[in-house]
Amino acid sequence: MTGLSSLLSSLADGSVEVIDLTAPLQSSTPILMLPEPFGQTWPFELEEISRYDERGPGWYWNNFRTGEHTGTHFDAPVHWATSHGGEDVSQVAPSRLVGPAAVLDFVEQAAHDPDFLLEIDHITAWQDEHGPLPDGGWLLYRTGWDARSHSQEEFLNANETGPHTPGISVECARWLAEEAPIVGVGVETVGTDAGSAHSFEPAFPCHSFLLGAGKYGLTQLRNLAQLPAQGAVLIAAPLPIVGGSGSPARVLAFVERPGGA
Ligand code: MN
Repeated sequence: MTGLSSLLSSLADGSVEVIDLTAPLQSSTPILMLPEPFGQTWPFELEEISRYDERGPGWYWNNFRTGEHTGTHFDAPVHWATSHGGEDVSQVAPSRLVGPAAVLDFVEQAAHDPDFLLEIDHITAWQDEHGPLPDGGWLLYRTGWDARSHSQEEFLNANETGPHTPGISVECARWLAEEAPIVGVGVETVGTDAGSAHSFEPAFPCHSFLLGAGKYGLTQLRNLAQLPAQGAVLIAAPLPIVGGSGSPARVLAFVERPGGA
């Protein structure tokens, strides 16, 4: 059997399952809120063109309007000043959008400390147990934050000192950008950086180092609990917006289910 026909028969018999890692896109989808005087992204909005009525008797369709960085979305290198004219989202090679995924679970730590930061030592310890991060693949950082995505307030978890959501330390972000063999980092939160990363040195290190190194970000993922620590294959499918800094994306994972469904 060829690789693709083997994949199709595995999908048909349930020994490979497709998991949707994408948050539904709707007006209540949480979005990033920046403090004054910074510009703001638009939430997702649908505007009806016709619905089997006088505006279009046989058809239903909508216009939509939203920021590039809404819901489950892809960060392209050009999003950050450190990429110095890096790829826009339409320029990302399709082969970079399909790859292996490692899932690192820090749900317990994030439950105790919403400002929890992933450190190089955490990854080293994880690799001792599960093997190396996948070459040309993704580090998916599970924090349990997907359970909060029904509420903008719970998702951003802000108080008078700003948002409090888990992220990645400066040293770890630098290591992931410069040393790790991955193409990108995926998270469950509204952005790849910690809620408090505005005060880091440099600020927003995940964006700064990873996008600066030509790597990618994926945000607001869900259902990571259904993925194994190693062995899933991820498909990230942002829209090829010409000149775009990112795009809402459908993100799927192929997962082996030994013995089938
Ligand atoms: Mn983004």
